[in-house]
Amino acid sequence: MNATVSLLKCDHYDLYEIKEKILKGLSLLGFDPSDFRNKKVVIKPNLLKGSLPEKAIITHPEVFRAVVQLVKEYGGGPVMVESPALGALEKVLGKTGYDHILKQENCQVADTRVTAPIFYSKAEIYKRFELPKALFNADIIINLPKFKTHGITYITGAVKNLFGFIHSLNKSKWHLKASTQNEFANFLLDYYETLLNGFPKPKIFLHIMDAIIAMEGEGPGSSGDPRKVGALLFSHDAVSIDSIAARLVGFDIDRIKPLCFAKSRGIGAVSLDEIHIKGDPVNSFNIINFTPPSITNRFGMLHWPYNTKFFKNLFTEKPAPVLGKCSLCYQCESICPAGAITRAKGKTRLPSYDYNDCIRCLCCMEICPEGAIEQKKGKLQWLLDFCCK
Ligand code: SF4
Ligand code: SF4
Repeated sequence: MNATVSLLKCDHYDLYEIKEKILKGLSLLGFDPSDFRNKKVVIKPNLLKGSLPEKAIITHPEVFRAVVQLVKEYGGGPVMVESPALGALEKVLGKTGYDHILKQENCQVADTRVTAPIFYSKAEIYKRFELPKALFNADIIINLPKFKTHGITYITGAVKNLFGFIHSLNKSKWHLKASTQNEFANFLLDYYETLLNGFPKPKIFLHIMDAIIAMEGEGPGSSGDPRKVGALLFSHDAVSIDSIAARLVGFDIDRIKPLCFAKSRGIGAVSLDEIHIKGDPVNSFNIINFTPPSITNRFGMLHWPYNTKFFKNLFTEKPAPVLGKCSLCYQCESICPAGAITRAKGKTRLPSYDYNDCIRCLCCMEICPEGAIEQKKGKLQWLLDFCCK
């Protein structure tokens, strides 16, 4: 696949300058902002947690404000959709200063607890997700990632920021389900493919990355260090914008699993020969000694015992066939990518599930013609639900 990334220098969080750069960046992509007219536009910043903008943990509020103003000026209806990983949304909005902007700009905020299912059968492993209903109603989705280092995915940019659509409680469950570095990278790509292809009404995606002040070192939270990069990046393709941002700071693409897997799976554009860069050349930024995260290759060890099958079984839902509904058609057995389902034994009238092998992709639920599979809570899931409230 070929993609375009516009890369522009921007040194300050000055509203006027940012708006000017956004219009230029979009125009280099070939996107006409008059296409916002009468459109429902979802805007997704990175609000990982309640934090001051200068810490570089969140998308800077002035970047968000600039986008909201432009969408409105060109006749669109903006709505913010975000579910912070840490803390209640209201508190995060207050601590980040987003509450003032939302009020001043009269921008709606969607309730991410009101969800609907989305399914994409061609995703590799994870094919079904619960997403905020606001996304289903949108015409255009503007993703506003902050460029940061990340202990699991090496960087967090456009692909990873989309994970924030999932309500915070469910985010923890996905981390448990896809708990190794490779599983999580593939999960993100399945999820991204589902966003691109799974909506009944396809969306236009615009990714605008805030790399004016980025984060280096032990990101993506408080242990990372703000570092000036002085760039805004634009693309329709989340993979290519991440690839160019990583190259901008001198990172080796082979260290970034989501990009490596995107390349092998043919999702988006990763290689330079597939990406048309417009605007300022990468080498004109001269970013040297940008510090990478140090814990990526120890992810499995650091998260023990939470990545074990034992904990997964206690803390996450499991698909369970229901007696009386199941017709023993065994379509579930055929689709199961983990080989976790076997035929009924003896007098049992239900297929047998091995939850140690089950990866919770829920494909069996999707395919069951009788609607005979329900999600059963893990024995200690109430504890996780309680802690994540
Ligand atoms: S697909 Fe559904 S009805 Fe068929 S065996 Fe599996 S659970 Fe039973
Ligand atoms: S049992 Fe169902 S949810 Fe588990 S891996 Fe198999 S298809 Fe996926």
